[in-house]
Amino acid sequence: MTRYIFVTGGVVSSLGKGIAAASIGRMLKSRGMSVSVLKLDPYLNVDPGTMSPYQHGEVYVTVDGSETDLDLGHYERFIDVELTSLSNVTAGQIYTEIIGKERSGIYLGGTIQIIPHVTDAIKGHIKKLAEESAADVILVEVGGTVGDIEGQPFLEAIRQVRGDVGRENTFYIHVTLLPFLGSTKELKTKPTQHSVQALRSMGIHPDAIIGRADHEVEQDVKDKIARFCDVKPDSVFGLPTLDSVYKVPLYLEEQGIAATLSDALNLPDTEPDLAYWRHIAEIEDDEEDPVRIAVVGKYVELHDSYLSVAEALRHAGFHHGRKVQIDWISSEEIEEKGADKLLADAVGVLVPGGFGPRGVEGMIETASYARNNGIPYLGLCLGMQVMVIEYARSVLGLKDANSLELDADTEHAVISIMEGQEQLVDTGGTMRLGQYPCRLREGTRAREAYGVELVNERHRHRYEYNNDYRIQLEEAGLVASGVAPDDSLVEIAEVYDHPFMVGSQFHPEFASRPEKAHPLFREFVAAACKVLREGGQFELPAADGSTATAVAESER
Ligand code: GLN
Repeated sequence: MTRYIFVTGGVVSSLGKGIAAASIGRMLKSRGMSVSVLKLDPYLNVDPGTMSPYQHGEVYVTVDGSETDLDLGHYERFIDVELTSLSNVTAGQIYTEIIGKERSGIYLGGTIQIIPHVTDAIKGHIKKLAEESAADVILVEVGGTVGDIEGQPFLEAIRQVRGDVGRENTFYIHVTLLPFLGSTKELKTKPTQHSVQALRSMGIHPDAIIGRADHEVEQDVKDKIARFCDVKPDSVFGLPTLDSVYKVPLYLEEQGIAATLSDALNLPDTEPDLAYWRHIAEIEDDEEDPVRIAVVGKYVELHDSYLSVAEALRHAGFHHGRKVQIDWISSEEIEEKGADKLLADAVGVLVPGGFGPRGVEGMIETASYARNNGIPYLGLCLGMQVMVIEYARSVLGLKDANSLELDADTEHAVISIMEGQEQLVDTGGTMRLGQYPCRLREGTRAREAYGVELVNERHRHRYEYNNDYRIQLEEAGLVASGVAPDDSLVEIAEVYDHPFMVGSQFHPEFASRPEKAHPLFREFVAAACKVLREGGQFELPAADGSTATAVAESER
């Protein structure tokens, strides 16, 4: 029998419900259970793919190519699962589905209502994930805050699940804020009491409460919450803001949340193996000599827009037993002040994905700085494209080389739309999304990093490396180290005569896990550690391109 754990939020948004849910998933997985997760997002957008990074942060891409909420990234990383479109359902999707059915006459003239049509559709998605994943436990997080108008059908749907599958198979956790009052120096529980009241007015009586706070939640505060919210004393947990999200599973574990869940849901409460998570927590505490990586992008003031990139860098650090410190650098600031000035402290630079021309020249300058100074460089999607543009401009001497996205009139569109993909641009909004295979060429850094010939990686972009320039670029030392199996697309490019200058058209960051750093990030950070150890920059081998040409020729 599948067990369902529902996570709701109270008082304010941005409490880290996703991290809490992901941490609970990790604790159950570490006890040998299989876990899947569903994020219910009550907003009316069909998916976050069209939302601005200012509104939404990163768009997380699943293997099957759905553009989803960034919480799915937390779930995948913490629980080490691969999720699909089944794991993110928005009100926009539910209403589109229902209105589509209404238009095609499926409801046979009936009146269509929130209850039962909308709630049944929501429950249908929960059930579908339970069936297809066959997981022991399904975690369902309801986005937003209790009291939001658009959230009501979702709360009603999860309320009904208890009646459908039984009390013994359902558990409701409410994550709320405990504000700290400076004048009396105490955490206040009243907003939580009100929020629980609001939840109860919807028919949901929470089984457990997690109180989020900026301070330690003492036992007397927990007792008070238990009393006023009618929750068992052993079912109130505190979660102060920790300095690393990777400490959250351990923090909740110590308070015995897993035992409470096992009790209520009759799950095996075996000894969890969390040794690696303890190791990670130690690295996160290590303030000595961090590996300083500069991430150069357009939205660097919004760290959430590059969430998976930051996490993947941390994971690579965990692998090497080193703490990675990220210096967020605006590419527009590079345009104003110069790369030498802003990147001087970095032992590695990473240019992440992005859209549109703003700040791109600063990213190109970043690529040039890394190439000329032997600083390890990892380019992701747009970051790979700017690396190709920079190489074409500086090494091939094609001064106006650019991406068609950034300059529609360029004579040298080294990043372009490939034959057969033109309609992607005409129709707009359509991208190459999801997982595609990539063949790694022998003798390259990419191949060495992965250690296998064929890999699958996730994409989210419209433009591609232009094959018309491939021979020219390869002969000049920019090797296509990863290609589509039929050789039609370049998926990874690397500068042959450089300690580590690799760009991927795909987004490796989505596949990285704390316990399994992604090979490209792992090797990038290894190269950065080497720079750090040697106290400066690498000696650049003579860039005559001869070795690169040899690789290219052996494959031709
Ligand atoms: N804007 C580029 C493209 O569409 C890169 C996209 C990205 O970095 N995700 O191809």
